[in-house]
Amino acid sequence: MHRVTLIPGDGTGPEIAEATRRVIEATGVKIKWDVVDAGIDVMAEKGTPLPPEVLDSIRKNKVALKGPMTTPIGTGFRSVNVAIRKELDLYACLRPCKWYPGVRSRYENVDLVLVRENTEDLYAGIEFEEGKPGTLELIDYINGKSEKAKIRKDSGVSIKPISIFGTERIVRFAFEYAIANGRKKVTAVTKSNIMKFSDGLFMKVAEKVAREYPKIEYEHKIVDNMCMQLVQKPELYDVLVLPNLYGDILSDLCAGLVGGLGVAPGANFGKDCAVFEATHGSAPKYKGQNKVNPSALILSGALMLKHLGENDAAKRLEAVFAKVVKEGKNVTYDMKADRNDPTAVGTSQMADAIIKEMG
Ligand code: NAD
Repeated sequence: MHRVTLIPGDGTGPEIAEATRRVIEATGVKIKWDVVDAGIDVMAEKGTPLPPEVLDSIRKNKVALKGPMTTPIGTGFRSVNVAIRKELDLYACLRPCKWYPGVRSRYENVDLVLVRENTEDLYAGIEFEEGKPGTLELIDYINGKSEKAKIRKDSGVSIKPISIFGTERIVRFAFEYAIANGRKKVTAVTKSNIMKFSDGLFMKVAEKVAREYPKIEYEHKIVDNMCMQLVQKPELYDVLVLPNLYGDILSDLCAGLVGGLGVAPGANFGKDCAVFEATHGSAPKYKGQNKVNPSALILSGALMLKHLGENDAAKRLEAVFAKVVKEGKNVTYDMKADRNDPTAVGTSQMADAIIKEMG
């Protein structure tokens, strides 16, 4: 019996989380779910969108399945998703982008995996607001330290830290993943030609780590070129490893290559804990309508089963999912050729079809 923390999330999260839980249970793997609530809906009652029992539960169980959660724009609270990653030091974000026959996409035969560093870079949240005394002090300091620096006094400043420690562990994660999953090539992606001391360091450290894995091919690409390459010939790529911000942007690009956010799973790994979640957000406009596609979280569930050592169940779940999608009958609106197709099924009916197929 495995113990797993289940965070339904908010918006459409609870609907897709419930669909995913039922599908996972249909594999026959025994899981005791520890259901804890976080997100915008618990804010009023608990005074925080991330009550301490949520992190306590993940720390205890070491594995969590999480529905998406809303980050309101223009209010004080920071992203719960980012907070969970930070609090548990979930430094590696894994985003497999695989095309399944039946999924409408401009590309076929794409099967790449993106590994995003989750804790550093411009995403570290180290920011100085325009006009604040501390910001002016910082600008004066930097302008005084470098002849090149001419930061205007009315600037806001975001800091981009990239460390040897953070880079080593994420690049090593990418190579270890490649070995464990029979992958052949790792491509590091940076803008090292311009940001020599941050991205340049990432590139140098990646090259050093790559030498420890001679059986896996290694290459480095500049991020703008990488975007073009991915759009032109995505089938050439296997495992990508990127600093946080490029990883965030290219995750959505790669999800787009294989049919969009509805089918893009994800996982966040730390030294001790792992949290499995879809790439997409809470799609709040569809809340409570039993409409959105549960596939991304279901595929995240398959990744979770693999992480739990339930390889056969993970493979079976993926195969059954692929069959239902290939048939194209019991799928949600976004997987139909016409988004208004009246034969599209709802979130829970798509889960039912997968469960039925599992037998
Ligand atoms: P979103 O991913 O929720 O939606 C983007 C578009 O994709 C929308 O048109 C939506 O309808 C569609 N979409 C998303 N998931 C779908 C699904 N499963 N099936 C069918 N269509 C789907 O992104 P957004 O609108 O930018 O963000 C909404 C909220 O989610 C924001 O508050 C954002 O901060 C949050 N968010 C959370 C996470 C997370 O929980 N990890 C990730 C991204 C965004």
